[in-house]
Amino acid sequence: MEVFYDFLTLPTPHNHKFNTFAAQMKNRFPEAELEDLRQRLSRPNKIVITTHHKPDGDAMGSSLGLYHYLASKGHMVTLVVPNDFPDFLLWMPGTEVVVDYEKAPDIAIEKIQEAELIFCLDFNAISRLEKFGPVIGNSPADKVLIDHHLDPENIFQHAFSYTDACATSELIYEFIVAMGDRHLLNKDIAECLYTGIMTDTASFRFASMLSNTHRIIADLMDAGAENHKIHESVYDNSSEERLRFLGYCLGEKLRIFPEYHTAVISISKEELSKFKNKTGDTEGIVNYGLGIKGITFAAFFAERPGIVKISFRSKNNFSAKDFANKHFEGGGHKNAAGGKSNISLNETIDKFISLLPEYKDALKE
Ligand code: 5GP
Ligand code: MN
Repeated sequence: MEVFYDFLTLPTPHNHKFNTFAAQMKNRFPEAELEDLRQRLSRPNKIVITTHHKPDGDAMGSSLGLYHYLASKGHMVTLVVPNDFPDFLLWMPGTEVVVDYEKAPDIAIEKIQEAELIFCLDFNAISRLEKFGPVIGNSPADKVLIDHHLDPENIFQHAFSYTDACATSELIYEFIVAMGDRHLLNKDIAECLYTGIMTDTASFRFASMLSNTHRIIADLMDAGAENHKIHESVYDNSSEERLRFLGYCLGEKLRIFPEYHTAVISISKEELSKFKNKTGDTEGIVNYGLGIKGITFAAFFAERPGIVKISFRSKNNFSAKDFANKHFEGGGHKNAAGGKSNISLNETIDKFISLLPEYKDALKE
């Protein structure tokens, strides 16, 4: 512990980013609010943890990391997810006791009715829970938000919202440390938090990944996270159909608009069923477009029941979040966002293409 904070307070005048972050570190998790939570958590509580619809690696990693931490302190904790999560996250410790609201609504509702405290992780607005939203929104239990998305809703008794964090899992690590419980970090917590940081930074490569996060990763490895095992479990765990589906997307479905530095992949529901598409199979495919030289904006359209779901990724200064928010009822982060559309798949793609000329200058390399 001493080593960690001593490092942060070392003078490093040559490194602006480091100093800025070190200063922010001290301001995260204000002591007064933490003290309130420490009081509440000094006796066993019935706690529900929840996260966003279609939980991804960070949603599950942060939630399971917090689950193991709170359970180790003697609380009765249930993790309730709005719907299922990808198979490549099933290996994570604790997934066997997760309650899926879509599959077991009665148990989910019962747990929420009993809850004294609800932790809301990796989302900023109740609408991100989709149909599960009202169940959480109408619960009288106090709610604690820990998240890194912009513009959090004002419905939480405690809101720890830090948009400069690379992942909610990073914030859970800092929360545990700030609570004075770094000694409680164990292999289960470490593996879950490592996974969340790894997946939300595309394996530690995004600009959001500062040197301090590498220090956190080092600490998680020291606490038992086996990096090679986690990378293999998440990334070398495709079904054959998933890999062939990726080949089909890249070989047959990728469209490039060079004048707008944009790459698009779209998939109909017939194509999804042809490849026996399962939850998580489309995740990450949008990123391949950005791998092409000169491309600054990539979009992936998937036709789901009654809705077209869209993923956006961008490079440099182009805000995928603003684009998603303005045109496709969405949001997210500057370079990784999502949205949806209620018109047909083809109409949605036509709408997207017709918007590109407006952004011609902004999309330049
Ligand atoms: P993905 O493309 O991986 O599904 O999502 C990328 C990012 O955009 C995530 O941070 C996610 O929270 C956000 N996002 C995805 N879909 C939506 C949406 O429909 N609304 C909002 N507000 N954010 C979204
Ligand atoms: Mn996240």
